[in-house]
Amino acid sequence: ASGAHVPALVIGTGYGGSVAALRLAQAGVDVHMIEMGMAWDTPGSDGKIFCNTREPDYRSYWLRTRTKAPLNYFLGLPIDRDIPRHTGILDAEEFGGITVYQGRGVGGGSLVNGGMAVTPKRENFGAVLPSVDADEMYDVYYPRANAGLGVGTVDPAWFDSTACYQYSRVGRKHAQRSGFPFVFVPDVYDWDYMEQEAAGTVPRSALAGEILYGNNHGKKSLQQTYLARARATGRVTVSPLHRVTSVAPAAGRYTVVIDQLNTTGDTTAVKTVTADRVFFAAGSVGTSKLLVRLKATGVLPGLNGEIGRGWGDNGNVMCGRANHLWDPTGALQSAIPCSGIDNWAAGGAFAEVAPLPTGIETFASFYLSITRNPHRAEFSWNAAAGRVDLNWQTSWKRPSIDMARTIFDRINSREGTIYRTDLFGVYKIWGDHLTYHPLGGAVLNRATDNYGRLTAYPGLYVVDGALIPGNTTVNPFVTITALAERNIERIIATDL
Ligand code: FAD
Repeated sequence: ASGAHVPALVIGTGYGGSVAALRLAQAGVDVHMIEMGMAWDTPGSDGKIFCNTREPDYRSYWLRTRTKAPLNYFLGLPIDRDIPRHTGILDAEEFGGITVYQGRGVGGGSLVNGGMAVTPKRENFGAVLPSVDADEMYDVYYPRANAGLGVGTVDPAWFDSTACYQYSRVGRKHAQRSGFPFVFVPDVYDWDYMEQEAAGTVPRSALAGEILYGNNHGKKSLQQTYLARARATGRVTVSPLHRVTSVAPAAGRYTVVIDQLNTTGDTTAVKTVTADRVFFAAGSVGTSKLLVRLKATGVLPGLNGEIGRGWGDNGNVMCGRANHLWDPTGALQSAIPCSGIDNWAAGGAFAEVAPLPTGIETFASFYLSITRNPHRAEFSWNAAAGRVDLNWQTSWKRPSIDMARTIFDRINSREGTIYRTDLFGVYKIWGDHLTYHPLGGAVLNRATDNYGRLTAYPGLYVVDGALIPGNTTVNPFVTITALAERNIERIIATDL
């Protein structure tokens, strides 16, 4: 309620926010979480909480009147469709040179993502977070994060026999014939549940093409893991459809201004609460946008000059390959990827063998590559337009394409195959207009101290992907979770 006071306020309910809330609550602190998206705990008229990738409806997108599917063409035909404007689950946020996909709702990105839960190789960690003690991370915090998230790996014997991973097996064969290391990628999906889906004994989710707009079964989002444990402490409350717009110092505390939203995105009430501590966990983009605006408009002028800097796209780039007729990838494809091709050391690319869960045979192999893209962008306040801009250029994906080609040019040449040109436009090979993995904007040990404290303002912290300087060499959420575990442990021990 307006006028209330809370000891700890957490902005956002993704990975960083959920870790912070759980650990603070376990330490005896009452926590209020503010989430701009919906609760995603109530079925729609079709009896399902989440809509299907093949039939995106009002639940699919955050305040758009037309879908903006990451793979926006098929056989050269645009597949986007009109939808009613609604506070849907996936935000395709458009900046000048890039569309940044993000989850909206209680659970943040964990609601929409593929659940791929990858710990970076230890030899690569120094480049990911140079100021963090790697021994501590690999001995304590990565194991803690993996346990808290419920990470597991596909049973290799089942993988070899199930129809729904035919596409992955084709990916493996082509990778290995070109001499690339093929790896299984861990995931938070309940693998036993997926085997039952394949056996036909439970309702299908991964095998019904549920991805991007939520999974109705099987995937362990934060709602089933960290947030469930946080709520069970009895000390954590969550306010969905509330968006933080300001955090201002006020007599040793912070005044937090919050818009209450309805499901068409209008502000229905403005509330003000005070908090002793505020944890920015609005995601790389959400946290950066808030901090850049609050610094530039004089609300938090003491934030340092690193605010808004060091943003990267985790080198994301997508492509498809057209297989020969003797290499079908399967009409039934698990929407949850389970394998990858690791050419990081030699070529700067780690490629996920991704599904195309269209329900029909496509003879296509599809990949999301994570690459060592060197470019970093900066958020800045555009006073004239009253918004925060990001100066990423589409042409900055060029190094990512070149790195991905170290894998796929060789495979194409070995297999006598070509790239698909019909998935991202008319004769367009590379999905270079987007990222799923925004990282940075309030980088650890630069914009904050080495534990996420915004030191000019005691009691303000960053705990999410904004801390990570643009690249994690693999999918990011395990690293975001592990870093949050490390930082909140220190903050609880020394600041409370
Ligand atoms: P988020 O999870 O983004 O949470 C931030 C939350 O804050 C959101 O719920 C948002 O609505 C809320 N918020 C923002 N601003 C405000 C505000 N002003 N007031 C109130 N609330 C606010 N990563 C992997 O590791 N593996 C994968 O397989 C994978 N697949 C992905 C697939 C897709 C389609 C997408 C979009 C992402 C994927 N990711 C994946 C990335 C991963 O989901 C993100 O890296 C992760 O969610 C970031 O965590 P976070 O805690 O930084 O913030």
